Amino acid sequence: MEQLRNGKRLIFFPLPFQGHINPMLELANILHSKGFSITIIHTSFNSLNPSSHPHFTFHSIHEGFSKSGTLKDTLLVISSLNANCHEPFRGCLTRLLSDVSKEPVACLITDSVYDFTKSVAESLKLPRILLRAWSASSFAIYATFPLLREKGYLPKQDSRLEEEVTELSPFKVKDLPLINSDGPERYFKIIADLEDQTKASCGLILNTFEDLDEHALATIRQNYSIPVFSLGPFHKCYPNSSSTSSSLLAQDQSCISWLNRQAPKSVIYVSFGSVAAINEAQFLEIAWGLANSKQPFLWVVRPGLVPGSDWLEALPSGFHETLNGKGHIVKWASQKEVLSHQAIGVFWTHNGWNSTLESICEGIPMICMPCSADQMMNARYVSDVWKVGLQLEDGVERGNIEKTIRKLLVEKEGEEIKDRVVKLMQKANFCLKPGGSSYQSLDALIKHILSFN
Ligand code: UDP
Repeated sequence: MEQLRNGKRLIFFPLPFQGHINPMLELANILHSKGFSITIIHTSFNSLNPSSHPHFTFHSIHEGFSKSGTLKDTLLVISSLNANCHEPFRGCLTRLLSDVSKEPVACLITDSVYDFTKSVAESLKLPRILLRAWSASSFAIYATFPLLREKGYLPKQDSRLEEEVTELSPFKVKDLPLINSDGPERYFKIIADLEDQTKASCGLILNTFEDLDEHALATIRQNYSIPVFSLGPFHKCYPNSSSTSSSLLAQDQSCISWLNRQAPKSVIYVSFGSVAAINEAQFLEIAWGLANSKQPFLWVVRPGLVPGSDWLEALPSGFHETLNGKGHIVKWASQKEVLSHQAIGVFWTHNGWNSTLESICEGIPMICMPCSADQMMNARYVSDVWKVGLQLEDGVERGNIEKTIRKLLVEKEGEEIKDRVVKLMQKANFCLKPGGSSYQSLDALIKHILSFN
């Protein structure tokens, strides 16, 4: 039955990347199911498809990117979005606030990466809540950056990468989320601004749950004197969320019919998310590692995964024949549906936060191959804190890949890892039930929003 509307509207503003769009639209679905009307402001870059969410109202703003422009550096895209969206966003928000034909707007829920939303919301006297799409641990660490710089861990030096950061055990220097692409100073400034504008917000929402991230959440609550809501895993809160797709790429449904023909818990699902890139040598090691493992595998090779390559042309001729039907390769999958399929035994992932959480929620152990940003920290948590996966510590090499697959699928170590991830999955289910931590946090968030005048 449709939940009665509560007479309040929420405005959401997602960052236009798949890993940020998914949790924000899931959160919008959760709050819609609690009676709020939802308006989404989105950029024309990676624009959303309103017909996938007919219960929301959509408004597009133009960020000024040309279609032919190269947008390879994620940090550069974020800086450009912050520079270009300010005025169109202010204009759109002003119009929405003055529209008396719609319910009054209770607050703005924006991706934490959009720094200009602070001044826009303040000038329009609109409460602003942030959604942090990355992991809690990668946010908690920002407050330690001055210490990490003082101790010489940052900027990262090649000679110290394997060193443990004693103040932040079990993290190693190589796990720290520093993007060095264009000099560290630009990144440090982004982090400092992010901290300031978080402190100035009316609240922070994280897609995690207390039992998973208790320590990181406590650190965040200590460092930021704003309300912090951990009401994840979002995609499990809202019963119909998997059917309302926010996918930017077409999902290849052949995955499911192929999985239906595989034995339970036998398949390695391989996907490195929507942004990560690997080189051709790594691509070939992965291909041969999978083939040599003799296990069935479902591999998402997103166009652009290997820069400069259209899709699979780097695979040697005859590769498919060596597989004997044991491998299925697609451009994009319906990942949540895949992970919940009984045939999946292992997820080989880049440890983007959504993928990590989606794997935990289905009780699937992980092979970790982090590529950048918060992924290294997520992977360290998976392998060394929660102990629900193994990292490819010795590099992406076919023998090492085969060995790691065998450990997880055949050996005793794999059994123990599977037991632990199933226990975490049970905790994820429990926290969403009445009285559970995420259930209570959602209640607290709703009360907080309704308290705004
Ligand atoms: N995803 C998907 N199909 C794929 C690969 C990924 O639907 O073939 C989804 C996945 O379920 C997740 C998101 O894309 O929700 C990727 O987010 P994540 O944080 O894992 O990584 P990112 O893409 O941001 O690096």
